[in-house]
Amino acid sequence: EVYPFGYALITIFLSIITYAIIVHKLLDINIAIKQSIAYSILLAVILIFYLITVLLLERLIREHFGYTSIAVSIFTAFFIGLLFIPLRNRIQYIVDKLFFHRSSAEIAEENRRLMQEAEKMDQLKSVATLASGVAHEIKNPLTAINTFAEQLPKRLNDKEFLKKFSRIVGSEVTRINDLVHNLLDYAKPSPPKRTPTDITRLIDETLELLSNAFVKYNIEIKRDYEPIKNLTVNIDAKQIRQALINILYNALEAMTGGGKLTVSVRLSAVSSQPSEKSLKADSCLLIAVRDTGPGIPNKDLQNLFIPFFTTKDGGTGLGLSVTRGIIEQHGGSLTARNHPEGGAVLQMTLPK
Ligand code: ADP
Repeated sequence: EVYPFGYALITIFLSIITYAIIVHKLLDINIAIKQSIAYSILLAVILIFYLITVLLLERLIREHFGYTSIAVSIFTAFFIGLLFIPLRNRIQYIVDKLFFHRSSAEIAEENRRLMQEAEKMDQLKSVATLASGVAHEIKNPLTAINTFAEQLPKRLNDKEFLKKFSRIVGSEVTRINDLVHNLLDYAKPSPPKRTPTDITRLIDETLELLSNAFVKYNIEIKRDYEPIKNLTVNIDAKQIRQALINILYNALEAMTGGGKLTVSVRLSAVSSQPSEKSLKADSCLLIAVRDTGPGIPNKDLQNLFIPFFTTKDGGTGLGLSVTRGIIEQHGGSLTARNHPEGGAVLQMTLPK
């Protein structure tokens, strides 16, 4: 559109398109080549037509007005060139229609629609994972209760059986109840009740809670806190403790053969919310938990926060989705990555 200077950018445009076609299979290479040849031939034809028009018109005007200035000649050529733009656009439209059966505006619209459909499919996939997870988690306790209930009429006088029955019903109902609470936490996390909290102290207390397990699995703890006294943040300590436990427990389960767990705390100016425009320096708190376990397979990285996604036999797959909910309620974010030297890094960003 920035005629004629915009043409200087065509080389960059073509390089990007070529890269996209070859690497990302943007479109069938044969169509791309045929389309480019047709477009180039037609452009060459209008270019010749344009040059002839310029030469003839310029000569005609020069003879008519009798001027000799080169500047006027260039201006005339430029002006005639402007008149050719609609013709060039028309050619582009016809070539697009011929090869793609649609204009570029229609292709863009189609792409937008396909993108929306893909997003919807992703959402449906998450719903399907969630539904099958809930079904699976509820089915097990129900089967246990049902098995006992079927035998109940015949064993009403069996004291031992009744004792076992009441115990099983109690524990299985608790299991379902926990699941429902976890699901509610995920779907509608309760708003954080914030109080000024010394964050490193909270982390130390949480590490202390799990200290027996760390000793049992031979896990060395390394604290890497930025040396700031009284790092106080306004958070719901109970919720953040829960989030930390979920993350630490995962790290622990990834290192049952022993390893090293590093918890680091840093202040950063990077905001977790890109919409925040006015950022003060050190406005964010980064808490990272790094383990020396096997890490997370790349294909799983994007599924980690989907409810019920688990790779563990007895796992519920709710820990990280609930944790992310908690952090997001605090206006922060939770991300997972693999460390270049091995192991996983779970990092939460909290606004200070
Ligand atoms: P669960 O622990 O019940 O499986 P989570 O939501 O807490 O549920 O975790 C989901 C999955 O994320 C785990 O099953 C595991 O595959 C993966 N994961 C989480 N943390 C780690 C970690 N530190 N190292 C390797 N994999 C992890």
